[in-house]
Amino acid sequence: MGISRILIANRGEIALRIHRAAHEMGIETVAVHSTADADAMHVRLADHAVCIGPPSATDSYLNIAAIISAAEVAHADAIHPGYGFLSENARFAEIVEAHDIAWIGPKPEHIRTMGDKVQAKKTAGELGLPLVPGSAGAVSDYDEARQIAAEIGYPVIIKAASGGGGRGMKVCEAEDQLETLMKQAGSEAKAAFGDATVYIEKYLGNPRHIEFQVFGDGRGGAIHLGERDCSLQRRHQKVLEEAPSPVISDEDRTRMGEVCAQAMRDMQYRGAGTIEFLWEDGEFYFIEMNTRLQVEHPVTEAITGVDLVREQIRIADGKSLSCEQKDIEFKGHAIECRINAEDPFTFAPSPGLVTSYHPAGGMHVRVDSGLYAGYRIPPYYDSMVAKLIVYGRTRERCIMRLRRALEEMVVEGVKTNIPLHRELLQQDDVLSGDYSIKWLEDWLEERE
Ligand code: ADP
Repeated sequence: MGISRILIANRGEIALRIHRAAHEMGIETVAVHSTADADAMHVRLADHAVCIGPPSATDSYLNIAAIISAAEVAHADAIHPGYGFLSENARFAEIVEAHDIAWIGPKPEHIRTMGDKVQAKKTAGELGLPLVPGSAGAVSDYDEARQIAAEIGYPVIIKAASGGGGRGMKVCEAEDQLETLMKQAGSEAKAAFGDATVYIEKYLGNPRHIEFQVFGDGRGGAIHLGERDCSLQRRHQKVLEEAPSPVISDEDRTRMGEVCAQAMRDMQYRGAGTIEFLWEDGEFYFIEMNTRLQVEHPVTEAITGVDLVREQIRIADGKSLSCEQKDIEFKGHAIECRINAEDPFTFAPSPGLVTSYHPAGGMHVRVDSGLYAGYRIPPYYDSMVAKLIVYGRTRERCIMRLRRALEEMVVEGVKTNIPLHRELLQQDDVLSGDYSIKWLEDWLEERE
């Protein structure tokens, strides 16, 4: 009984991450892959591999029928979706469960609620989370929009209810642009997400992005694992993340962490989740909840010692969490650099053949990556090819070690953003932790 073979419905470093947790638990893995990923490291390491389609993600990693068939053929008794792709697709979760396969993720109804940001905000408000001031729900009427915007004050941000990945947002500075921008946001959202619904909130001038890791057992038990600071962003995409945040006090962590955990208990939330806030002048404002494992989860693992993928698998297997809130201790500091195959300063993607590869190593250095010399990075998917995660007893020690690790790391044949990270780790504001979500783009602009 129990989970004995997990199908990994993803690719790249996260597929490898899941494989590792499974094998450490004595569980077999099934890799599903597109034709473009036949040589991927996680495919090589998995116990079984099934090709599910051509390179295009729509025909492979998003192809529900092909993935379910692969699970049946390979006798998988659980599916882990990773992040991205089908991870926040409630219908997929339902289909998996309908096939008597364990879904390593939250309950489908919670994925659905949180995937609609208007619903998510409403639910978060009811659960007692502090919200960004804005419309109570979706807004379609321009007069109503003008009234709401006037009440909360300009600038405002128009956001797509179904938005994700930093897309479908428009900042509006004044009333005369409101109608035009709402129309634009609506039609862009319709084109990208098939849903034109938009809502309005106050545009915060200079916030930090602070998110809390939560974990529920699905039966009303839940804990929080502290926060991550993901303020270093370019085009709303995270570049470097750290835990704990340099600006959050122990009291605030305990207080907000408990508010988040209590919200998850009230929902009877199951599995891993992240509650995202903007933080400005000491106040937290909920923006969204992600019902999946995050890219940046290893910084939390580094400072708590909890293996989040292992916990996900335990919960999906009907077991309890391996720890209670009182067992969670936050120790030291961790930083993650997302390493992308792209030009470090123009950000043009740079797929192709990796001619040589040397990951950083040494004490407290972790590299999650499927790279190897001779591997060809396919042009069809996300450009992130590795994550470098470094731990130190203090933030200062962590930064010293991270600089050393970045010196060591070699990826040749393609361009990567390692030079960007090296430069970032020399900036006074980064060293002192004094940055907001605007900082990176401002710095890049000045640097030109
Ligand atoms: P997505 O799901 O597309 O990632 P989010 O709601 O999480 O969208 O927002 C992504 C990013 O957009 C945030 O990290 C922040 O940088 C910016 N952002 C979102 N809402 C606001 C706001 N009200 N004020 C200022 N910036 C915002």
